Amino acid sequence: MAAPKVAVVGAGVIGLSTALCIVETCPSCSVTVLSDQFSPNTTSDAAAGILIPHTSPGTPIHVQKQWFKETFTYLLAISNSAEASEAGIHLISGWQVFKNTPKEEIPFWSDVVLGFRSMSEAELQKFPQHRFGQAFTTLKCDCPPYLLWLEKRLKATGVQMYTRKVADLWELHSEYNIVVNCAGIGAHQLVGDEKLFPVRGQVLKVHAPWVKNFIRDGDGLTYIYPGIHRVTLGGTREKKNWSLSPDPSTTKDIFDRCCSLEPSLCGAQDVTVKVGLRPSRWCVRLQREVWSQGGVKLSVVHNYGHGAGGFSIHRGTAKEAARLVGECIAGLQGSSSRAKL
Ligand code: FAD
Repeated sequence: MAAPKVAVVGAGVIGLSTALCIVETCPSCSVTVLSDQFSPNTTSDAAAGILIPHTSPGTPIHVQKQWFKETFTYLLAISNSAEASEAGIHLISGWQVFKNTPKEEIPFWSDVVLGFRSMSEAELQKFPQHRFGQAFTTLKCDCPPYLLWLEKRLKATGVQMYTRKVADLWELHSEYNIVVNCAGIGAHQLVGDEKLFPVRGQVLKVHAPWVKNFIRDGDGLTYIYPGIHRVTLGGTREKKNWSLSPDPSTTKDIFDRCCSLEPSLCGAQDVTVKVGLRPSRWCVRLQREVWSQGGVKLSVVHNYGHGAGGFSIHRGTAKEAARLVGECIAGLQGSSSRAKL
């Protein structure tokens, strides 16, 4: 059969990394990315981009750990290469601090990040409101540069990218053999997934180059993540709130909470605000389907619903989606050789 034509819908971190994994595992495919928005206008652009996984109740822990490990290994290699500054990837050390000792003192990802250990009493003195803490080194993506780096790699391999809003995946059946749905929160409307809901997040980007370590309150709500040029201050988690407008009272609240964790931030300047809708679901939808209408078939692979942790697991889920695309291709080749008999 001719080279399979694959459309990836979505150009956030999930769509771009999935397209790249498909090209890497199936070089004979013709891959096109279709998206109504590209960087800098995706949810992925608003993210803080730190690699600390969020536990998803509907996915076995060993699978979440594997996705995280694959992502960590991939980005660690980039951070250790000449590509690091263009890709916006760097190692970062810091602390996750808790007001009370958490049930799980050692999280499932502790042996994937580097140098994980409990904080010493001397370190905890920096955080008088907290009684327990974990110190480790992880990775951080500066999100817009990383998305542009992924786009550049895709273009270099001949992947086409078009701005297009897809109303229904079926509309692509006459042009493509396989459609990969990486629409993030857009999948709520695109495939009518009622289990997918937004968790609104507002963050601030500030100039505070003296802040070098990440600090995350264990409740996950307040965090300080230094990037290459700007420090991200967070955040909020507002379930089923679809508003993309920044809220000034929330901006003040985030700033105050972060100054309480790291008082030197009171001198931070040049505050900008970003809002994004985390595509949340009880588990990532990583699934292969065959759609059929009037005897015409379309292979569909879903890869969306990464919630608060898309950057932390993107490479792992992209590899799995590419494997599912490989299964679709094997199915297509099987049916085309049966048709010739
Ligand atoms: P998106 O980035 O939303 O991409 C979806 C793409 O699909 C877009 O290009 C969109 O235009 C396109 N699309 C949608 N519908 C259609 C359609 N009908 N037709 C065509 N195109 C369509 N994760 C971490 O791991 N670490 C963090 O530190 C972190 N911080 C975060 C902070 C905030 C404030 C927020 C909001 C999120 C954070 N996340 C973090 C989560 C992370 O941002 C998401 O999990 C991730 O960005 C989801 O990526 P995505 O590609 O699925 O979605």
